[in-house]
Amino acid sequence: MTSSKPTNEIFAEQGLQSFDDGVKQPRRPRPAGTYHEAARDIPIFAETDVLVVGGGPAGTAAAVAAGRLGADVTLLERYNHLGGLSTGGLVIWIDRMTDWSGKQVIAGFACDVFDRLPKEAVMGPSRSDWGSKDISTAQYWSQRAAAYKGIVTWSPTLDPEALKTLSMDMVLEQKVRLVFHSWVAAPIVEDGTMKGVIFESKEGRQAIKAKVVIDTTGDADLLARAGLPLDSDIDKADIHHCINTAFLVGAVDIERWLAFRYEDNDGFAKFMSGGRQTVGSFEKPFCSWRSDVALFMGPRLSGYDAVNVEDLSEVEMRSRSLTVAHVDHYRNNAPGFEKAFLMLGAPQVGIRHSRRFQADAKVTRAQWDEGKIWDDEIGVSTSLAPKFPNISIPYRSLLPTGIDGVLGAGRHIACDPNSHSFLREIPQCWMTGQAAGVAGALAAASGVAPRALNAALVQQELIRQGVYLSPSVEAAAKGATIAA
Ligand SMILES: Cc1cc2nc3c(=O)[nH]c(=O)nc-3n(C[C@H](O)[C@H](O)[C@H](O)COP(=O)(O)OP(=O)(O)OC[C@H]3O[C@@H](n4cnc5c(N)ncnc54)[C@H](O)[C@@H]3O)c2cc1C
Repeated sequence: MTSSKPTNEIFAEQGLQSFDDGVKQPRRPRPAGTYHEAARDIPIFAETDVLVVGGGPAGTAAAVAAGRLGADVTLLERYNHLGGLSTGGLVIWIDRMTDWSGKQVIAGFACDVFDRLPKEAVMGPSRSDWGSKDISTAQYWSQRAAAYKGIVTWSPTLDPEALKTLSMDMVLEQKVRLVFHSWVAAPIVEDGTMKGVIFESKEGRQAIKAKVVIDTTGDADLLARAGLPLDSDIDKADIHHCINTAFLVGAVDIERWLAFRYEDNDGFAKFMSGGRQTVGSFEKPFCSWRSDVALFMGPRLSGYDAVNVEDLSEVEMRSRSLTVAHVDHYRNNAPGFEKAFLMLGAPQVGIRHSRRFQADAKVTRAQWDEGKIWDDEIGVSTSLAPKFPNISIPYRSLLPTGIDGVLGAGRHIACDPNSHSFLREIPQCWMTGQAAGVAGALAAASGVAPRALNAALVQQELIRQGVYLSPSVEAAAKGATIAA
């Protein structure tokens, strides 16, 4: 599904929201030559059963799931909080966890999170409305990001600070050793097996040895540094390759804004055209968990490489100017925004896609139509549209090709670019993270490589942890006898 058209054009044809074609600033040339870094002995910080690198949705779920099995777990995160993009990236709209019939198929860790978040930290439809096709109910929720294609979905928005707190509580309850402010620089690989990592902190360079490592960095940092082949092809027609830093705007009256947007067609059209003229790439807000806070998850920038430090810097600079211009334009022109102020620019840059690892199996577009169910399914994703059945995710898609001792989960999971459009979403990252955590703990406890684990063992524990599997897979897993 590649197109030779520029992305701007493809997006305009699809009526997608604002978008900018990333004309990069000229860069200063980098000097030629290299610097020889001397070899040295470094302290060992820890020895652990399961080492999870990256505390985003996938890493948090992995650490909790592994801890529940009694594994000694260490979780390293470069920032000062858990949740990754779902908190620090202000991506607080949690995508669909229900299928088109209203059944919650992304369950397990996702249910644990919403069961425990304070009521006032979540905005979304009540369970009795999930799957509803009632016109007025669907219309109400489609204006609040929780109905799509005329069907109400379980896709709430939440308070990022509440999710940070809950994520930390959940991890600490499992006695996970949680280490913030630590940037993993390289994996330790011996004889084709990942045995730990080297990380940098204010203490300098240190090592951690682990029986099993889980890469949940989102950018496959460990697998990249291990020299493994990675995929970076994109679907140009999908927003999954766009980068930007999100922001929250406070002191808003979101109900007045919604009334303007949906009831005053001429006024809204004039406002948008003014925004495009003044700001350029111009974005509409999403409702958040509060009626006085608006969420902006754009303007989306394209053409940038999410693992190039100068590209990342430029994205931050452009996002900041666009953010300030948006707040000014909304404050001066939009009903409901008269007193608005810039509440927070996301501490974490919003990377939807950088690279994906290659694995023993992967979800591809071909699977969507036939509704293939993998024997080694570890979770079920919602599909992109009602015409497609639910999507089965195989255990083997967590097993990077060409190396042992490591599992991968989250937005860098093995899949094709089309399937990445939904496998990168937060609920799917919770799901693959939870499965990686279970597999990591089981492998560490039994002393076998994750690749050698019997998938039924993983499935049995996932079911115990409340994960939804396709009925045929669940029945087979429950009936499976596994040799000790
Ligand atoms: C602008 C934007 C809008 C989006 N919209 C939605 C949406 O509406 N709904 C939805 O469900 N999803 C949405 N997504 C997708 C979703 O937010 C991400 O794909 C998801 O958060 C990925 O989870 P993850 O755990 O794989 O990675 P991340 O959330 O990126 O977490 C990775 C963590 O690893 C840490 N880390 C990375 N490298 C290292 C290292 N070397 N050492 C130590 N720590 C490291 C990072 O600091 C981070 O905390 C959006 C994404 C963006 C950017």
